[in-house]
Amino acid sequence: MAYTPMMEQYLKIKERYKDSILFFRIGDFYEMFFDDATIAAKELEIVLTGKDCGQNERAPMAGVPFHAADFYIDKLVKKGYKVAICEQLEDPALAKGLVDRDVIRVYTPGTVINTSAIDEKTNNYLLSVYRNKDNYGLSIVDVTTGDLFTTEISNCRDLRKVYDEIMRYNPSEIIANQDFFNNSKLIKIIMSNHIYLNKYDVNKTNEEIEEIICRQFNKPLNELGLLGKNHANASLVYLLLYLEDLQKVQLNQINNLTYYEDKSFMMLDSNTIKNLEILQSNKTNSKTGSLLGVLDKTITPMGGRLIKRWLEEPLINIDKIKLRLDAVEELFKDYDGRLELKDVLRGIYDIERLASKLVYQNINAKDLISIKISIEKLPAIKNLLSKYSTICLKEIYLKLDILKDIYELIDKSIKDDPSTSVKEGNIIKDGYDENVDKLRKASTEGKAWITNLEASEKEKTGIKTLKVGYNKVFGYYIEVSKSYISMVPQNYIRKQTLANAERYVTPELKEIEEKILGAETKLIDLEYEIFNKIREKIKNEIERIQKTAKNIAILDVLISLSNVAETNNYVKPTVDNSDRIVIKDGRHPVIETIMDDSFVSNDIEIDEKKPIMIITGPNMAGKSTYMRQIALIVLMAQIGSFVPASFAKIGIVDRIFTRVGASDDLFSGQSTFMVEMSEVSNILSSATEKSLIILDEVGRGTSTYDGMSIACAILEYIHDKIKAKTLFATHYHELTKLEDKLDGVRNFNISVEEKNDDIIFLRKIIPGAADRSYGIQVSKLAGLPDIVINNAKNILNSLENGNIEVAVETAATQIDIFSMEKDSLIEEIINIDIDNITPIEALNYLYKLKKKASTLRT
Ligand code: ADP
Ligand code: MG
Repeated sequence: MAYTPMMEQYLKIKERYKDSILFFRIGDFYEMFFDDATIAAKELEIVLTGKDCGQNERAPMAGVPFHAADFYIDKLVKKGYKVAICEQLEDPALAKGLVDRDVIRVYTPGTVINTSAIDEKTNNYLLSVYRNKDNYGLSIVDVTTGDLFTTEISNCRDLRKVYDEIMRYNPSEIIANQDFFNNSKLIKIIMSNHIYLNKYDVNKTNEEIEEIICRQFNKPLNELGLLGKNHANASLVYLLLYLEDLQKVQLNQINNLTYYEDKSFMMLDSNTIKNLEILQSNKTNSKTGSLLGVLDKTITPMGGRLIKRWLEEPLINIDKIKLRLDAVEELFKDYDGRLELKDVLRGIYDIERLASKLVYQNINAKDLISIKISIEKLPAIKNLLSKYSTICLKEIYLKLDILKDIYELIDKSIKDDPSTSVKEGNIIKDGYDENVDKLRKASTEGKAWITNLEASEKEKTGIKTLKVGYNKVFGYYIEVSKSYISMVPQNYIRKQTLANAERYVTPELKEIEEKILGAETKLIDLEYEIFNKIREKIKNEIERIQKTAKNIAILDVLISLSNVAETNNYVKPTVDNSDRIVIKDGRHPVIETIMDDSFVSNDIEIDEKKPIMIITGPNMAGKSTYMRQIALIVLMAQIGSFVPASFAKIGIVDRIFTRVGASDDLFSGQSTFMVEMSEVSNILSSATEKSLIILDEVGRGTSTYDGMSIACAILEYIHDKIKAKTLFATHYHELTKLEDKLDGVRNFNISVEEKNDDIIFLRKIIPGAADRSYGIQVSKLAGLPDIVINNAKNILNSLENGNIEVAVETAATQIDIFSMEKDSLIEEIINIDIDNITPIEALNYLYKLKKKASTLRT
């Protein structure tokens, strides 16, 4: 049996979009068929029905109304599906035979443009990676903002580095060529992050690639900084072609390309970002409790996205850092100015994403009004900026395009409160277009005529109950109640009979009605046409809007940093190229905010002559906190932020490495110790003398002597070969002997006070090694039973007297505590008074005894 023609059309189109859920437009609905329908019914919780398709069995079908489609598309995309939208390409009323249909867009997680579906303060990245042997090209785009970056990693066998570079962007979708897919390990790790991963391979020669790039950006390769970057270029072209395939529009908004290299930013590997809780707290997996959470007081979504990026990409160029610091300082000192600027910024919408929407058909008149309202604020901002003299602020002032022409265009053409749909009219302002005005006049005049009709007919005919009304089927009518029918004039034509009234029309009334309705449909079409022209005009200026958005973002971030500096009592750091870091009264920027005043500040002075600090002290003393706070302060300084200290002088670092705690991670399938060692090995192979290394309790995952030997060897290697500034927290006291052996090593400890048998944490870092770990006291604080604490003390005493055998012996006799407990259990059993116990009591007792006995089993 043959399929119906429409089903044939459907199947033909579906054949080209096998991996997508196909939304097939029929009238006011998008319908899905067969497997798509079953999936959609389940995922969207909509009804599964069937449609006659010419076969014996009906085709499973599910549908959503077209005006609510965005909601359903978002839902499916969020669940990891691709959604292809197939539209009617001609007006069904005018089509001869089957309506022509085709796919006009495909939605994927990395290409959603419906901004309500994504976090406004986070970029939504699509990343393209092109691999050719050990060379990788990476290109990254946010289609909602037009941000586009590309880079290249050459001759790299270190998968971790490739992985880190990819994950730095936390993309929601990755496309990669076949060669990349051949690397199953990387693929597996990427998949474990629940990132949507596509294979996308197109065969293009280098010449073709060059041509595509030059066409998109209107510049030759050398001006784009892409000459000879074949891998980056390939990834870029794959990205562009993929977007074109999916969106089927010219990507005007993607015009601002940045090529970057390793050396442009401080490299932060995924571990360090996680360990230092830069973007997310590890406890809650949210921004609150992270460095970003503390620093981000931005007002606009553009600013929110930019501050996140600054944190991901701290600078290493002194001059650039100073430019930011100076600007933050100038704003910091001008409290009133900051307040005024903040006030104005509050009125600015996400013009960056709105501008990108211009490229697609789905921008509406309300969006244009949002753009207008935002632009309206620009002159005030420019005005407020005029007084500042630091280079960064001056530059924003000079470069800020206040987009006057765009404001004027929208202002004179678009109504202040237009309808949401662009196909309902009520968009274009009076006085903008002669024909719109004429049609509106025709329609209002007609309506006025009809309003007057009731009174004049009443008077003419003398029928007191005469009424003029409107309904969808019959249009306008004159209604006369039954008792007056005899008075109805000759020219009335009867249309409808009701229980106690008759409805009539007159030729004149019909004529006016046609005028009104005709004018209204014409008006809707005309308004839509004019709206599209305006949209097109503004689209040509998209680059200017984007540049303004960028400048607003920078200003917003600088203001945010100066605000936080004031609220949290930060100080401006000085930065230089030396190898010296000096911080006075440093604090941990996140922990101090949740501790109201009780946080104890600490100093550091470290340089190339004594680059290694070994930090000892009991558990809970504050070693990890101290080391992280140093790393965070350095990082903050290098994004251009003030820092939580009373004084800071930072010789900038090229990278920060951390190995904190003993935690499993993504390169799973390995033991914790294995993970730890592979991370350390990565650090040892990538760190330079300009790096800052934080090692926290490294070597813990194996036996004491093993761990200690490894820790020792690692330190010697860093000391002799790398010379990086290194903070090393350890509970291996033996390591403190390295101070005598190696010139560059110094011992520190975080002090505690011993009072009777307890300890008090002072949280101050002081020179010298801790003499003991106070493990027993800390255990006591943690609530271990006295019997265990006392036993431990005895064992420790013997050990400290160097008498291991005695210690073991003491331990052995003390372990008799267990046999004492056993004795007491036996005693208990013997003493049970079996004659005087109820069955239930007996059962409960038995239960208790069994529990006791099982704790005694070793
Ligand atoms: P360690 O690494 O030595 O075991 P942590 O650095 O994890 O200790 O610190 C343990 C706890 O002590 C932290 O969670 C924090 O609450 C507190 N703490 C650490 N440093 C300070 C400080 N400088 N001032 C106040 N409290 C601190
Ligand atoms: Mg610790």
